[in-house]
Amino acid sequence: MPSHEPVAGESAADTKRLPSQSPNRNPKHNSQKPHITDLPITWDNWWKHINWLNCTFIFGIPLIGCIVAMWTPLRVRTAIWAVTYYFCTGLGITAGYHRLWAHKSYSARRPLEVFLALCGAASIEGSIRWWSRDHRAHHRYTDTTKDPYSVRKGLLYSHLGWMVMRQNPKRIGRTDISDLNENPIVVWQHRNCKLRKKLGTIYIC
Ligand SMILES: [Zn+2]
Repeated sequence: MPSHEPVAGESAADTKRLPSQSPNRNPKHNSQKPHITDLPITWDNWWKHINWLNCTFIFGIPLIGCIVAMWTPLRVRTAIWAVTYYFCTGLGITAGYHRLWAHKSYSARRPLEVFLALCGAASIEGSIRWWSRDHRAHHRYTDTTKDPYSVRKGLLYSHLGWMVMRQNPKRIGRTDISDLNENPIVVWQHRNCKLRKKLGTIYIC
């Protein structure tokens, strides 16, 4: 699954910036202009509420895969790769992003960190830093307006909507991610997971 969201002012939800980040990386960003998520969804602006990059990853790529599979013969090597990829990316999120970095349930040596960071990136769920920040906010502010996956916005939203709809990063509750900012593997992965765009930064893995 993918991520994510243009984040002009991303670190409003964090307590510490990465060393090279400027307060506002987009000179055209107008802080007075309301974020699209603060406006009601209408026929004229519904498409602005959609996170099209995430939709491409969540719906577009699997759909293309299903269609193309009808004309592509299955090979044993492809099947082995698909199963291996599935379990490795799942491990990157469950053992890496979730328990190692978001919750600090255990500590790991560098080689394991690198392995989990690569597997997590391959799952297209955003960077460790981005994912863990949101997950810590989710636990700290569960089911409040500061919870990025709040079920109060609906069951569908808490499981899928938060990824396919744009979010206002300034609405997400503040969390302490200073430990992640001091982790060289996390910083390295975060810097290599983003695309610069006109409206800010988009995290692609
Ligand atoms: Zn958790």
